[in-house]
Amino acid sequence: MPIHELYAIRYGYHPDGHTDAEMAFGGDPTVRVEGMDFFIWLIVTDQGKPIVVDTGFFPGLAERIGHAPLINPADGVRMAGFDPAAVQDVIITHAHYDHTGNLGDFPNARFHMGATEMASVTGPLMTHPATRAGFGKRDVKTLVGFVYEDRMRFLDDEDEVFPGIRSFILPGHTTGQLALEVDTARGPVIVASDAVHLYSELETERPFPVFHDMGAMIMSYRKLKARAARPDLIVPGHDADVTRRYPALAPEFEGKIIRLDRAPLAG
Ligand SMILES: [Zn+2]
Repeated sequence: MPIHELYAIRYGYHPDGHTDAEMAFGGDPTVRVEGMDFFIWLIVTDQGKPIVVDTGFFPGLAERIGHAPLINPADGVRMAGFDPAAVQDVIITHAHYDHTGNLGDFPNARFHMGATEMASVTGPLMTHPATRAGFGKRDVKTLVGFVYEDRMRFLDDEDEVFPGIRSFILPGHTTGQLALEVDTARGPVIVASDAVHLYSELETERPFPVFHDMGAMIMSYRKLKARAARPDLIVPGHDADVTRRYPALAPEFEGKIIRLDRAPLAG
């Protein structure tokens, strides 16, 4: 059974924090809380091959809505020791702007994306401004272009992306939100991406306030908890605590490249 390495690359953050209501449905709009972090993920296979998961927000766009870039996601991949132009595979967990913003930085990659998500972002649901909020026209057009260039492989629910890397759908945040289960030295770690933004969604079932279907999102929290052998095998997509809970790849990468395939730090 192949055992892979798994990193989170923290490429951005939200410096001004959020209101509690921006972080949970029914939250307190008068209380300010720590802002979200933004990650892409990097799998280094047992063969030493990099597989990039998501491509992050486009810096110019995100700065307009208060996100601060720390590094260009492709530069994060470079820091971890891999040339983005040599990356052959990029998995897209869902099509929101902060996960598909720099697709062109991986010019030689084949993309792997949920068929359900692609059908959703090119279908009737996108005819309303509220349901298409969060998706970028430029990014979706680029993804459709990959289909016509033979650079897109579609994933189904409960699919094997590569040996030791499985995808499954956790609907609710978006229609086709994918999570990835990666076999690592500490067990199968689930990159929940935005099926779970924050640890509190799992711990107290506080629903994140951005969703396609809140009921489905809550059921997805439960499906995820039932699947993971231990809570620490689930990694949320935007919690600033991820960086504090896991060791850095090396001291110089503190706060930027985090090892999710290592045991959580004590305390
Ligand atoms: Zn996101």
